[in-house]
Amino acid sequence: MNAIEIKNLTKVYQRSKKSAEKLALDNIDLNIPRGSMFALLGPNGAGKSTTINIMAGLVVKTSGTVAINGYDIDEMTRSAKKSIGIVPQEITFDPFFTPRAVLELQAGMYGLAERDRRTMEILDMVGLADKADATARSLSGGMKRRLMVAKAMVHDPDILVLDEPTAGVDIELRQQLWDNVKLLNKEGKTILLTTHYLEEAEQLCDRIAIINNGKVIADESKDDILSRIEGKEITFRLDRDIVDVPKELIEYNARIEGKRRLVVSYQPAEVAVGALIDAVKKAKYDIADITTDQSDLEDVFLQITRAA
Ligand code: ADP
Repeated sequence: MNAIEIKNLTKVYQRSKKSAEKLALDNIDLNIPRGSMFALLGPNGAGKSTTINIMAGLVVKTSGTVAINGYDIDEMTRSAKKSIGIVPQEITFDPFFTPRAVLELQAGMYGLAERDRRTMEILDMVGLADKADATARSLSGGMKRRLMVAKAMVHDPDILVLDEPTAGVDIELRQQLWDNVKLLNKEGKTILLTTHYLEEAEQLCDRIAIINNGKVIADESKDDILSRIEGKEITFRLDRDIVDVPKELIEYNARIEGKRRLVVSYQPAEVAVGALIDAVKKAKYDIADITTDQSDLEDVFLQITRAA
């Protein structure tokens, strides 16, 4: 059974009677396997938050069905809600509360009896046990994020959803948060995260769906999707003007951009950068500067949408 099953899901927003309708989700299908680490990848405005907010019961869908842990969100709302924990983008707790109090309050909202609460265990899991009684206001940005993860875990959901978990978080904290999420996945949680960072999806997830303009344009294993986007580009800025592509670089399909720039698109698995540099030197040019550029998400979109 899938942790989440989305069928023919459509969402049309209408801000006011007079304004135009916005088709935010256009008949999407998505299955998120149990136990997976799944990334929903897409640019701003693609429809990621809408999808998550429908799961969380915060946005009312226009049509289609969503089942969480096998529970239809319309028919088995309570069971569906119990199965999922959502970590929103914004920090949503009272800054004057302690982490312990934040979790206790959340447990209360889920109606958990005292004996069923695991406050310290959860704080320990996200590395905040020693901060249990500090005011939340005194926590660092990364700790606050981890407290948000802890809050979503209070009712012990099988599925954890993180909405842009590391937007605005620095690299070191990002790594910590990733480690935490990996651990939760190892312990059996299904993880769904939305992101517009390709790197985040790459580091964490085993399956990636790409959403654009309210449509799912790819839904594949990470390896399959990465194999599409391995292309890199290298630019040599040379010491003098180039008229023709030197013969040494013809086999690499080099092209001239501007007067002194030579650009080569290549597959790192097939071509070594050293060979490219040697070829430029062999052509008797001095290299003033080298820049490389990895295909980014935008290229992937272009490739995938063009292919479709
Ligand atoms: P993402 O999370 O991928 O950035 P969203 O799901 O937030 O995308 O938005 C999808 C589209 O729906 C966007 O065009 C956005 O402007 C629009 N949208 C989102 N929320 C509303 C709303 N409450 N009212 C009208 N349009 C909305």
